[in-house]
Amino acid sequence: MPIATVNPANGETVKTYEAMGEEEIERRLQLAEATFRTYRTTSFAERTRLMHRAADLLDEDRQDIARVITTEMGKPVRQARAEAAKCAKAMRWYADHAEELLADEEPAAADAHDSGASRVLVRYRPLGPVLAVMPWNFPLWQVVRFAAPALMAGNVGLLKHASNVPQTALYLEDLFHRAGFTEGCFQTLLIGSAAVDDLLRDERIKAATLTGSEPAGRAVASTAGEMIKKTVLELGGSDPFVVMPSADLDRAAEVAVDARCQNAGQSCIAAKRFIVHTDVYDAFAERFVAGMKALKVGDPADEETDVGPLSSERGRADLEELVDDAVRGGATVLCGGERPEGPGWYYPPTVLAGITREMRVHREETFGPVATLYRAGDLDEAVLIANDSEFGLSSNVWTRDEKEVDRFVRDLEAGGVYVNGMTASHPAFPFGGVKRSGYGRELSGHGIREFCNITTVWHG
Ligand code: NDP
Repeated sequence: MPIATVNPANGETVKTYEAMGEEEIERRLQLAEATFRTYRTTSFAERTRLMHRAADLLDEDRQDIARVITTEMGKPVRQARAEAAKCAKAMRWYADHAEELLADEEPAAADAHDSGASRVLVRYRPLGPVLAVMPWNFPLWQVVRFAAPALMAGNVGLLKHASNVPQTALYLEDLFHRAGFTEGCFQTLLIGSAAVDDLLRDERIKAATLTGSEPAGRAVASTAGEMIKKTVLELGGSDPFVVMPSADLDRAAEVAVDARCQNAGQSCIAAKRFIVHTDVYDAFAERFVAGMKALKVGDPADEETDVGPLSSERGRADLEELVDDAVRGGATVLCGGERPEGPGWYYPPTVLAGITREMRVHREETFGPVATLYRAGDLDEAVLIANDSEFGLSSNVWTRDEKEVDRFVRDLEAGGVYVNGMTASHPAFPFGGVKRSGYGRELSGHGIREFCNITTVWHG
């Protein structure tokens, strides 16, 4: 895959880049290692100052970087600006909370005494250079939610971004430099995915984080496993969105449309499978389909656009194959389902009903604005359908019945349960999945501690 900006709205190649050669990669690895030796000793106050500066710069750049993102991966420019604002917020959150999140912990005095110690404490020390392999779908956010905690913890980062977002990748390196982080604190490696394996085997890389597809996660995790290196994986999702009879149907349908079609449906935590209690199935389906049809699909540079093109021709072809397979298997198309004529990798908001277990849409991640509708006879059946997936990232449930909420929270196999709302990440809450959606957590105190050496300090 060439490292290039190709505009998904018209398929034109805007800019191509040479991949970095071995010498340049070696220079950057040396710089990362050397920088870590001193950066790890900097104070929280200093890191906080730099991270706030980076957030301020990002706010100033918001309009410009949003346009770059829109050109590189097709996100509607309004959503690209919101992504930049969210990143600045997360940077500030970690700038303000890292010291407290990583403060020394003291086990109970009785336990210290029991071990023969006069005092014991647990200290969170940084690990070293961490490799981040990141996807294009939220090209700023996926990186910042790694970089802000990693840098605040005293680690240094090396970014291997998706090959279709090189300008965003270079922007991020430049942003942290301009904010005052020394050169080796955060570096972008313009490399293809084939170069990742050697990096993981390099002893200077201490850990890795990957957000992306299952095959990419498996490749990174297996080499890292061989090298006994810590990894955090945030892979795909096929989140359920369950609607029970007591739900506010108007609100549920409105949120369902947003949850499925934001970022043209290319989000790991997008709700993808809509599981509706039979008593409200027709009423919900009618509202949901009307909402999907009302979305404005078009030029992502236009302020009014709700749904832009998919990020790549391959991405659209993959999605079409899933829809075609479902239709061949007997699914009913309630709206959409056919690519429009003309340039750009557009695909309309689509709702499929009559889904069976044999269809690929039931098992695989639909990375685009395609929703599948299921009818459930009762709560037990809703839970069964929801859990009948290899993924377990997040989940959404709509009900006003507290007993039902308790059941969903107890039984849904996912890293999140969002009640009467849609899944959205926030810097203060842990984010990640179970099953094939990956392991480890990003964001919150859990996220910042993933890449720390949790050190027991024992005093006799
Ligand atoms: P990939 O997983 O292929 O890409 C994500 C990142 O991993 C990119 O930086 C990519 O580099 C890198 N990568 C890919 N293969 C390897 C490998 N073997 N070893 C090391 N790094 C690798 O996602 P795609 O863009 O191809 O999308 C395919 C599907 O993945 C989507 O349809 C969706 O289902 C899922 N996906 C999920 C995301 C999420 O947020 N959970 C995000 C993106 C995709 P390069 O670009 O150079 O190939």
